[in-house]
Amino acid sequence: MGAPDAGVYVHLPFCPYICPYCDFAKWAWDEGRAAEYLIALRAELDAAPRVRARTLFFGGGTPTTYEPAAIGALVDEVRARFALPAGAEITAEANPDPSLAARLGALRAAGVNRLSIGVQSFEPGELRVLGRRHTPDDVRDAVRAARAAGFTNVSVDLIFGVPGQTEESRGASLAAAVALGVEHISCYGLTIEEGTPYATWFARDPAAFAGESREAAMYALAIERLRAAGFEHYEISNWARSGSRSQHNAIYWANDPYLGLGVGAASYLDGVRSSNTRDLGEYRRAALAGTPIPGERERLEGPAQLGEAIMLALRTAEGVDLVAFRERYGIDVNERYRDVVGDLVAAGVLRADAAWLRLTERGRFVANDVCGAFLVS
Ligand code: SF4
Repeated sequence: MGAPDAGVYVHLPFCPYICPYCDFAKWAWDEGRAAEYLIALRAELDAAPRVRARTLFFGGGTPTTYEPAAIGALVDEVRARFALPAGAEITAEANPDPSLAARLGALRAAGVNRLSIGVQSFEPGELRVLGRRHTPDDVRDAVRAARAAGFTNVSVDLIFGVPGQTEESRGASLAAAVALGVEHISCYGLTIEEGTPYATWFARDPAAFAGESREAAMYALAIERLRAAGFEHYEISNWARSGSRSQHNAIYWANDPYLGLGVGAASYLDGVRSSNTRDLGEYRRAALAGTPIPGERERLEGPAQLGEAIMLALRTAEGVDLVAFRERYGIDVNERYRDVVGDLVAAGVLRADAAWLRLTERGRFVANDVCGAFLVS
């Protein structure tokens, strides 16, 4: 069997500062540590299993804290080692700090052709609560600079459920994001992650945080406003202009292979889902020694594999293509999951016919529960 086609994810975990709600594998920028990390990353890349890259995604952390030349060198290495085709989608996550604009020309020249900017909100008070140091004007400057640098595919991330956020301020942020003229918008609900300063705050004062019903109202607002603005709601948390869906994330939702490189990065190859350790020292030592990176490994097979594939596909607007599913997994979903499908359809959260299974509009609000029902069956 030849090398599989796969999305390639590269984790660059350093940030100029640390946000109090964040649970990603990330560390405050330190020149020395950041340089050492690149050496370890290259060692892991050299020893990684062969894949034919379909897309490349730099996530973090804040990848753009590295100089564009460092990212360009990684692009070249991925191209050389994993045959990333010319024209493939290459995304970098970025923070709209004032220093970003000046880097974008070099980043584009380095081969990055899609920018995903962590905006989170356009309300200065909410940005302060989130611990973000950029301003709404920084965001506008960054998008202007991205256009000037030749980026034709720009995405922004927004967070809903920020303490103190109202429907009005949320609506204003959505309107400001639309007014930027970007191709793609992701909206995520704030989650309280154990061990973060937000978890301590939540334990002390849960009333400061939006409950489920307020979060649902804000999600509904995003659906309504972004649809009215002509965006396609193509995945639970993602909206795109026509032709601008994230090709890299589509690989995850299709349950197709991906290779993750870097501390905490996840892979799915040959039916095995794995994730690298989130311990930076442990990661570095193993990568430099050429020994397997410690972490978790699980072969997905049988009901776990099917449930996972259905759960991922249901996140998308297209849902589960039953014919393609039968061809790929040898399973008739309507038959195998007859009771689950029947219950969810009766509850009004799932639509089913002979060719497709899809979440209903209502189902999108309880997507985790609906998708989870296939995992335990
Ligand atoms: S910039 Fe992003 S990755 Fe870095 S600490 Fe903030 S939320 Fe986490």
